[in-house]
Amino acid sequence: MKTSILAVGTELLFGQTVNTNASFLSDKLNHMGFDVMYHFVVGDNPARLKAKLAEAFSDTDLVIMTGGLGPTQDDLTKEMVAEYMGRDMYRDDIVMDMLAGFFEKRGRKMTENNVKQAYLPEGCTPFYNESGTAPGFALSVDGKTAICLPGPPRELKWLWDHGVRAYLEQFMDKKMFYRVIRTIGIGESDLETVLMPVIDGQTDPTVATYAKEGECTLRVASQRDTIEEAEAAVNEMIKRIDKLVGEYIYSYDDENLNEVVVRILKEKGLTITSAESCTSGLFPAAITDVAGASEVMSSAYITYSNESKINEIGVPAELIDKYGVVSPQVAEAMAAGAKARAGADIAVSVTGYAGPDADPGHEAGEAYIGFAMGDTVGHHDILTSRNDRRWNRNYLLLRMLRAVYLLIR
Ligand code: ATP
Ligand code: MG
Repeated sequence: MKTSILAVGTELLFGQTVNTNASFLSDKLNHMGFDVMYHFVVGDNPARLKAKLAEAFSDTDLVIMTGGLGPTQDDLTKEMVAEYMGRDMYRDDIVMDMLAGFFEKRGRKMTENNVKQAYLPEGCTPFYNESGTAPGFALSVDGKTAICLPGPPRELKWLWDHGVRAYLEQFMDKKMFYRVIRTIGIGESDLETVLMPVIDGQTDPTVATYAKEGECTLRVASQRDTIEEAEAAVNEMIKRIDKLVGEYIYSYDDENLNEVVVRILKEKGLTITSAESCTSGLFPAAITDVAGASEVMSSAYITYSNESKINEIGVPAELIDKYGVVSPQVAEAMAAGAKARAGADIAVSVTGYAGPDADPGHEAGEAYIGFAMGDTVGHHDILTSRNDRRWNRNYLLLRMLRAVYLLIR
């Protein structure tokens, strides 16, 4: 079903409020199989609101609106929608009772303008709001449906879960199933090129790629008559994708890389430590972000200076002198040293230039990731070609996690 989202509120145009409602709704609607074709944003102005509503309905059958449902004068979404769709307003007794209860519980007196919130368009389906005062509603006239929801994101989400989602199911003639595959180590354009034989001309399942910092996500979705058929189609497609890019995939169920790493370490009863220079603690932070991390990590090292690399994890000073501190040799010595010092099964390390500057003869984004497990010691060369410090540090964290993943998967 062709769908528009129309966010109402002058604060959105001023840039004071980010339009998170539109991204929330788009994400949910897309996952349900609605075709979201437009995002509109309009200020609290009746004429412009009506004009955008007309524009939205000229090309789409479902328009979901957020904002402007409150008790104040500038809240006029509801009235405009009723007018546009040719409906009068009625006072809803359930909303009146809920409002009375709301104010009584808080020991506050209900003001006259609050009663405005109890008025809804005739013939609508109300969505009663237990997380705030303004109710939402859906109104269908001649095959066009408007859904109006309150602006505060918390209330919007509450109503989505308590009514809106279920209401929208009537428009889904097909059942949707999707899975989200996460990859690392391959760029989005390379991923698309490699997957071209399975993506090209494909209408169902659809395969969409999204790039996130240093990672790529694939969403494989199918809409069929039954959920079983859709699931089977998705899994069949994933098998074909796996044959082409399996080596880059770390999750078939939209898990984060740190979660996957901790899960596998736990399953295999392995412990881990790290020694970091330029990422300074990002690795243990990512590991301990996952519940139950204490089973797999007991300590980790931040060895920013040469002295700390030498004193804390036993990197030989001669190695640093000979190869430089940003070198594969030092990365490996850091991993081996940390593993021995912590008595862990696995260690991963990083030494590099986060940027924006680097020493002469080097460039920002040059780094080496070392790893040690059992008698195996090795490293990965990294060259991000970026001088963005924050980006580089986050990327190096991902590559450390990936180095561990490759060892334990
Ligand atoms: P209220 O009853 O609170 O007045 P309302 O339905 O009238 O609700 P608005 O007055 O338009 O909604 O917005 C209330 C608040 O919700 C805004 O101050 C803003 O913080 C947030 N908000 C509104 N629209 C959006 C949006 N599109 N995305 C994110 N937040 C929003
Ligand atoms: Mg308001």
